[in-house]
Amino acid sequence: NSYKRVDAHLSSLGYCSRSEAKKFLKIFQVRVNGERVFDTNKKVYHNDIIIDEIVLDPETLTVLMHKPSGIICSHDDVGVLIYSLLPERWQKRNPKLSTIGRLDGDTTGAILLTDDGALNHRLTSPKSDISKLYEVTLAQPLKGNEAEIFTSGTLILRGEKKPLLPAKMNVISESVVHLEISEGKYHQVKRMFAAVGNKVTALHRVSFGKYSIENLAIGEYKIL
Ligand code: URA
Repeated sequence: NSYKRVDAHLSSLGYCSRSEAKKFLKIFQVRVNGERVFDTNKKVYHNDIIIDEIVLDPETLTVLMHKPSGIICSHDDVGVLIYSLLPERWQKRNPKLSTIGRLDGDTTGAILLTDDGALNHRLTSPKSDISKLYEVTLAQPLKGNEAEIFTSGTLILRGEKKPLLPAKMNVISESVVHLEISEGKYHQVKRMFAAVGNKVTALHRVSFGKYSIENLAIGEYKIL
């Protein structure tokens, strides 16, 4: 619950820029403990502020999104960026929201976004062993030895020196599997199936750690 100048605070949450703050305080009813604020210098606690009777967005924001296909997990790539699916105000927050790890453009499913840098670092560090569950659709029917190869802990991907940690695979149909991995190497799932002579035609992340997309529709998100 930070104690900051109201203009700095509203601007870090994306409500207005610092230079727009005076006008913002005129147009919107910003109240601190019931008292209307007009002075941009006034120092306020985050938890005490309401705007037009509504509590502010959380000071640190973490959201779970059901990522659609064709959306890019990057701040500066070309194409439709994942941040553009969020409310405009959230896109103006400082610190910025960033995805926790990445999904490929054509991958759908559960992705977290946060402006908590420490949390992001913790969950993406090579030491973090968060499990990610993927539904994988394949171009070719399974051969039958894939689960054994993936659980062995001996599979070395092209261009890597160390083998992958054991992964769990459950067969859903002859060309659809559920794969649970705890690492997050670049294009890992696609490379794993390339290593066993197959090709991923659709990839969907069912859950990231304890967060599963459950009833979120494609493109929907919720604050955690
Ligand atoms: N593995 C991949 O190959 N792509 C993803 O988007 C995620 C995991």
